[in-house]
Amino acid sequence: MTPELETRLKHCTSLPSIPSVAIKILDLSKDPQVCPESVSSVVTLDPALSSKMLRIANSPIYSRISKIGSVQQALTLLGVDASLNLALSFSLVSGLQQQSQGSGLDYDLVWRRAFLSAVACRLLGETLKSGSLEELFLAGLLQDIGVLALDRVLPDQYSDIFNGAVDMFSMSVDEHAKIDATHAEVGAWLLNEWSLPEKLVAATRASHGDASRVDQDDSDHFNDCVMVSGLVADLWMNEQHDEYYQRASRQAQQRLGLDNDAFVEYLSKFAELIPDTATLFETQLAWPGQSEMILEQAKEMQQVRSLRDSQKLDEDEAQLKSMEKRTQNLEERVRRDPLTGLYNRGYLDLYLQSEYEIATLENWPLSVVLIDLDFFKKVNDTYGHPVGDRVLLSFSELLKKNTRKSDIAARYGGEEFVMVLPGIDRAKVLAVIKRLLEQWSDCTHQSEEQDIFSVTASAGLVTLDTDHPFESVQVMVSAADKALYSAKQNGRNRVEIYGQG
Ligand code: GH3
Ligand code: MG
Ligand code: MG
Repeated sequence: MTPELETRLKHCTSLPSIPSVAIKILDLSKDPQVCPESVSSVVTLDPALSSKMLRIANSPIYSRISKIGSVQQALTLLGVDASLNLALSFSLVSGLQQQSQGSGLDYDLVWRRAFLSAVACRLLGETLKSGSLEELFLAGLLQDIGVLALDRVLPDQYSDIFNGAVDMFSMSVDEHAKIDATHAEVGAWLLNEWSLPEKLVAATRASHGDASRVDQDDSDHFNDCVMVSGLVADLWMNEQHDEYYQRASRQAQQRLGLDNDAFVEYLSKFAELIPDTATLFETQLAWPGQSEMILEQAKEMQQVRSLRDSQKLDEDEAQLKSMEKRTQNLEERVRRDPLTGLYNRGYLDLYLQSEYEIATLENWPLSVVLIDLDFFKKVNDTYGHPVGDRVLLSFSELLKKNTRKSDIAARYGGEEFVMVLPGIDRAKVLAVIKRLLEQWSDCTHQSEEQDIFSVTASAGLVTLDTDHPFESVQVMVSAADKALYSAKQNGRNRVEIYGQG
């Protein structure tokens, strides 16, 4: 707000003034010793206010079963704080309504929105079970009070802004552009001048705040309730119910954590309160059938949205799965040797280390077998490298077939392979390897020139068990290498066990 506007507001003689009953009520509310009798004595001074208090105590907003017959009874039932806030609300409404005659604005619209917001705001508090409900009612009611002040201080300019506005939020943007102040700021200023509690002043100031920003300090959601209540009122003030429903439900979700279902339930409770609120304030708040229409559309939107949410969930899940799959594929590719599809040396090292640790810890056997194709250089030299590749591939296939789920086979490099077999004793491993070598020597291969040939392999076996401890994986592998060397020395196409060759 500019200093000029503030000066004009300060010197404006026609600014709405706080009614004298309201001043008395405010004074009472500042007294920590206040009792129902003292509130009653102020309220009963104003017959219109008394009858309003009685009516509200008997209205469905309070859902009382027994009929309340006296102001005193009403005040006792409502409690002192609630009564004070209600009395303040009603005295302000009647006082301000009397002052808002004969101006350029459509005051019916202003009050209609104020009443709708007040009830909406109170019901939000009730739904969330937070905050003083009557204070929320008052805050909802007063959130646009700045409009009355701006109408007085800038009569011509402001009626153009007001009459050209579709809702209070877009009006705030226009106000900001044209008068460098919003009715929320001016309202807060006015309430402060009237010495109303700071909580109300702050809520009014924040009532059309940045819709995308959630107020971190607003721990009891007081300001959030006020803001959302304005949006609920807009839903009843405007024809484009879909758009205003979206806006209100989005903010209710973001600021107050009310999900779609909870918000629709809230709206139907709100719609039920409208007729009695209208009677209470002697005004029309909704045209016949309007609430039903809004609720029907809200339910439709809710269904569309929950359908969309569930579709989105499915899509998200599918996307997640495909991402996981891609990552898995990538990981697998990093682990595999491209020619044979067996695990590569990098993965083998990791796997072997962890198997070694588990075997040591659990005291179970672990075998490492190093297998090297015999005279493989000659295969390449005789039949060519591509035929050599095919032989490597067929050995890999045989290796895979002889590998249990708990074992792994890896290409160690060139024509050297490794098998790791945890959990079975050395004799069984020996049998597996012997069978493998036998099957391999029985395999025949064909050259480009249709020559048939076979290749043999030699293996070195080392088993870690209680009788044969090894201090590390590296020591085990070099032991297997020594056994393999012995197998080569002893004539190839055979397996040797480390320490027995
Ligand atoms: P030994 O019985 O003593 O193991 O004799 P060897 O000929 O198999 O041993 P050496 O280490 O002398 O030769 C290994 C050969 O394996 C040499 C190399 O060209 C071949 N080789 C290594 N990797 C590949 C490959 O990916 N494809 C093909 N075709 N040959 C390969
Ligand atoms: Mg070799
Ligand atoms: Mg070799």
